[in-house]
Amino acid sequence: MDTCAPMCEETRDKKQSLIGLSLEELQEICRSEDLPSYAARQMMDWLYVRRATSIDDMTNLSKAARARLSERFCVGIMPPAEAVRSTDGTVKYLFEVNPSSDNQRKHFVEAVFIPDGERATLCVSSQVGCKMHCQFCMTGRQGWHGNLSAGDILNQVFAIPESQQLTNVVLMGMGEPMDNLDAVLKALALMTSTPGMGWSPRRITVSTVGVKGTLERFIRESECHLAISLHAASPEVRSAMMPAERICSMTQLLELLRQYDWSGQRRLSFEYILFRGVNDSMADARRLVRLLEGLHCRVNLIRFHRIPDAELEGTDQDGMLRFRDFLTQHGVFATIRASRGEDVMAACGMLSTLKIRN
Ligand code: SF4
Repeated sequence: MDTCAPMCEETRDKKQSLIGLSLEELQEICRSEDLPSYAARQMMDWLYVRRATSIDDMTNLSKAARARLSERFCVGIMPPAEAVRSTDGTVKYLFEVNPSSDNQRKHFVEAVFIPDGERATLCVSSQVGCKMHCQFCMTGRQGWHGNLSAGDILNQVFAIPESQQLTNVVLMGMGEPMDNLDAVLKALALMTSTPGMGWSPRRITVSTVGVKGTLERFIRESECHLAISLHAASPEVRSAMMPAERICSMTQLLELLRQYDWSGQRRLSFEYILFRGVNDSMADARRLVRLLEGLHCRVNLIRFHRIPDAELEGTDQDGMLRFRDFLTQHGVFATIRASRGEDVMAACGMLSTLKIRN
């Protein structure tokens, strides 16, 4: 694994990580260390393009500059603490993180690598746990234990062995990205800017239940694709499963989304887990068609992955196909998302590090 375990131990205890810092922050470091300001751009290149794992790798900085920087800083890539491989090739990674809210105890998040032919996607976490308490989600049950920094978010992308193969990143792991938007936007900017990783924002999708204020800011300040966790076609059904509906209703969400143009390259999608007898009738499908009428979007139908003690049950394959066909026949582009990594609790809604904390 191309990581820097000994240095990273040292990082956490004594040194500040450079990964996750912006050009402006690196320029500030250069000023304080008496280095020329162009060294900050060189460091950006080493960190985000050439993937240096130690300051010593940054060979176009003078030896003296590297020695000075190494006294206080390190690259800070933290290897995953554990990896579990599914029979379908999906790999769930566990990362130790240091959320700002609580430095007294160990915290962990999970990221999931999903290879699929030419595509290689990493599902990334943005928080330790989550405040949204969606009934069908293991992370929601865990509660919230802190926000990840931009460095913690990027570390998931950089530290896995398959990092260089990645074609896509989705922020659909643990946490609600709009509830930690400063760090999420900073990580996205470092991934999509030059200097930075220089990825197209079309390779990244951010998923949200919809949080007032921050969602609008995300739409304005990022070009990444947006996925809305809808999971119901009426407010009553949604609020019974998702307390977030009571704070930012689907009516308000759709009103907001309709103010923007989604017909270009930026994709708007709605995620809809099908629950038997709850949201999977043809009346629900009809309501959903009406709800999305005129909006340039797609619907991703997702099979429910059973979690312990959940009363909800998933719709069977025939029911899912019927629901999808109704949507497509009525002009709403809909697909059924393939389930991946269920045997290692890596599938949608199954991520949790609750047991590991206790
Ligand atoms: S589905 Fe997303 S927003 Fe809802 S509890 Fe799980 S992680 Fe949080």
